[in-house]
Amino acid sequence: MNKNPYAGLYIHVPFCAQKCRYCDFYSFPKGEEYFEIYKNRVIEAIEFYGKKYARSYNSLYFGGGTPLLLGEKHLCSIMEAAKPYLTADAEVTAEGNPGVSERADFKKLREAGINRLSFGLQSSNDKELSALGRIHSAKEAAETVKAAQNAGFDNISLDLMLGIPYQTEKTLLESINFCDSLGVSHISSYMLKIEDTTPLAKSELRFLCADEEKSADLYLFACEELSKRGFEQYEISNFAKGGKRSFHNTRYWLDDEYIGIGPSAHSFMEGRRFYTDRNINDFLNVSFEKNEKEESSGGNWEEFAMLRLRLSEGLDVSELEKLFPEVSGAEILEKAKPFEAPGLLKISGSIISFTPKGFLLSNALTAEILY
Ligand code: SF4
Repeated sequence: MNKNPYAGLYIHVPFCAQKCRYCDFYSFPKGEEYFEIYKNRVIEAIEFYGKKYARSYNSLYFGGGTPLLLGEKHLCSIMEAAKPYLTADAEVTAEGNPGVSERADFKKLREAGINRLSFGLQSSNDKELSALGRIHSAKEAAETVKAAQNAGFDNISLDLMLGIPYQTEKTLLESINFCDSLGVSHISSYMLKIEDTTPLAKSELRFLCADEEKSADLYLFACEELSKRGFEQYEISNFAKGGKRSFHNTRYWLDDEYIGIGPSAHSFMEGRRFYTDRNINDFLNVSFEKNEKEESSGGNWEEFAMLRLRLSEGLDVSELEKLFPEVSGAEILEKAKPFEAPGLLKISGSIISFTPKGFLLSNALTAEILY
């Protein structure tokens, strides 16, 4: 069913300078002595999966955690090892945070082949940043973006959070204008989800977070303001200028194949979905094959449809029918029709696409039209 001759490569770097209050990702502060060991294991994994699948990667994504914390020496070594498997035009992204930018020499990273950076800005309001437990200020964020641009990076993404403590429409607008004034080409705008296990969930600050209704208003407000500034919404939470969508992340929504390396990383190869546990010791010490855990499902029509409905381009039910003849596209279109008038989705021929209002209700809406 996969039609892309290439795959993607994801490398998880679980280290952060400090844990943010709301964070549920597999990441933690670790001493520098760990970095070398980790880098060596990542290189072994690149070689292992390179031999096993013999595929070229046309995207590589260093996610985390804070990959830039590894510093250019280790990141460049990993790039050296990955190069034989990368296509000449591969999109190579590294995530980072403004507070650790001094650890990475952007010029060297650019020369090593990294051509896209994604920074966790979250807000341009220092009071909001401090409530989240972020270690940077807005001023540092601006300096980081400028330093990266001066080193030749013209494809930069910033993360913005919605529904965070103290946030109002006014401060959100300031954050959006801040991103726009920096000339970045991509913004990911996520709603804060308060996970029970995080310090934020146990703190008084949680009562200052937006409730469901206010979060919805902030989301629609962000979609509108970003669109006014030329950021095209191409996915529930992602906006791009000048066509600079995240190629790597888009492959997840298109059900394309990828290998994930590192604790908590997920993979989808040759029709099989698997992942590695959130356990760095297992990643370092257990053989790669033994450390793979099977995911319960993958590659079925429901997954295909759900992923496509995350994209503004939507789901083409005639394509769905071709790939999965057991599915009736006409039935799905019929079920989608009642949601067109209230402005939750659009139907154009055989294509169903959600509007921003529809994205807000995406889980419920997807269930209504697919089942
Ligand atoms: S920088 Fe990102 S990954 Fe690290 S603790 Fe903060 S939110 Fe989590």
